[in-house]
Amino acid sequence: MLALGTRSVLRHRWTRFASTAAPSSYKLVVIGGGASGLAVSSTLSEKLGKNEVAVVEPATRHYQQPLFTFVGGGLKSFGDTYRPMADVMPPNAQWINQAAATVDPEANTITLADGSTVSYEYLVVAAGIELNFAGVKGLESAIGKNGVASNYSPKYVEKTFEFLQNVRQGNALFTMPATPIKCAGAPQKIAYLADELFREKGIRDNVAINYYTALGKIFAVDKYADAMNAVAKSRNINVNLFHDLVEVDGSAKKATFKVLGSGPAAGESVTVPYEFLHVTPPMKPFDFIKNSALANTAGFVDVNQYTLQHNRFANVYAIGDCSSLPTSKTAAAAAAQSHILKHNLLAQIQGSDKPALEYTGYTSCPLVTGKHKLVLAEFSGYSGQPHETFFFNQANEHAFSYWLTADVLPSIYWNSMLKGTWTGPSAIRKFANPTSSN
Ligand SMILES: Cc1cc2nc3c(=O)[nH]c(=O)nc-3n(C[C@H](O)[C@H](O)[C@H](O)COP(=O)(O)OP(=O)(O)OC[C@H]3O[C@@H](n4cnc5c(N)ncnc54)[C@H](O)[C@@H]3O)c2cc1C
Repeated sequence: MLALGTRSVLRHRWTRFASTAAPSSYKLVVIGGGASGLAVSSTLSEKLGKNEVAVVEPATRHYQQPLFTFVGGGLKSFGDTYRPMADVMPPNAQWINQAAATVDPEANTITLADGSTVSYEYLVVAAGIELNFAGVKGLESAIGKNGVASNYSPKYVEKTFEFLQNVRQGNALFTMPATPIKCAGAPQKIAYLADELFREKGIRDNVAINYYTALGKIFAVDKYADAMNAVAKSRNINVNLFHDLVEVDGSAKKATFKVLGSGPAAGESVTVPYEFLHVTPPMKPFDFIKNSALANTAGFVDVNQYTLQHNRFANVYAIGDCSSLPTSKTAAAAAAQSHILKHNLLAQIQGSDKPALEYTGYTSCPLVTGKHKLVLAEFSGYSGQPHETFFFNQANEHAFSYWLTADVLPSIYWNSMLKGTWTGPSAIRKFANPTSSN
């Protein structure tokens, strides 16, 4: 029994690593084995049958990125954030452990990093968004040393808490860039956790906390912007709008911002000394998408914002951070999108005349403000209106919202979202907020 079990485990692993021996043609190829790619490929590989679906994914670790904020704040361990990719790949899918280098949607082919080609009948692009540390002068050489960290990268997220603990006095700076980013709330969440840490250590009066955002508002949706401005004010956190980080001088410990907008200081540069600097790097679409016929002018996969189908190539869909969908890029958004994409793509593959489902732009950003406090922003990026799951006012800081985000959602992510069975809280909303008109 044991020998048989071991053989079947080995066979299972072999399938996952034998990408060179794998067939080169699939019914469906999914590019990316992140939150979106696995949510889609798990269900579709089950529906379409063994090895009809391939997942092209170069990484050997899958990170649950929403947990990075908690690691940076010292509230979770780094080990909680990842699992081996082999353990989360859907059993019915073929994992091609390589990066996509180019896509030719006219020929229905993908060239992989090793130069080999894979062809598909249907394609889902789910490759995420690229961190661009090189987009800020001096940042690549400064990060990870002398008080400069970032929750956005698994390489530097543990540095955040390490460096925060070393702070005794001076300026702690937190930045938000001008480009589209994933989880637009994460740049400020860590400022609130830092504030709490400094208070606990009794050094808060010696540290000035400054949040610098390139945008003109602290949060896109007014209801939560009002809430976050009030939280920042009550914590004595200075919010500097229209300030875009352009340079870091790691040896002098100075950060330079360009002033954007149309105010009297617009176009000027401001240089600020720091003891601690948390950087949210600029982000950009991956080159293999930007340089392909799949891209819109901004470089994201050009899909219909309601159906998620490509605007020019009918057998192509996109989901998550790499897509052109004009909503806030989060795992919560990807979960809701996965339901729409799977329904519409499966109907197309099966030639069914089921009406297409339409994505509403739903997204969510849990704004952690302390160890047991959180503002649970839920809204549509299309309407700009709140779309809350619970009956209470989610713009208020709540221990329940914290518990849900820190203790419940991580388990839903591993056990349900990646397996294709969690597609957002709409069913819960029906009884938890029955009078909701949104
Ligand atoms: C600090 C931080 C905090 C966050 N907090 C939250 C939160 O509280 N709530 C929330 O909902 N979301 C949060 N997010 C955002 C969330 O993690 C992302 O929006 C989500 O992971 C997007 O899923 P995705 O599949 O589109 O991209 P990803 O999960 O990034 O996956 C993309 C995958 O594509 C792969 N890939 C890249 N290039 C290629 C290539 N050339 N070929 C093949 N594969 C490729 C990558 O290796 C990766 O596995 C946070 C993110 C960060 C960094």
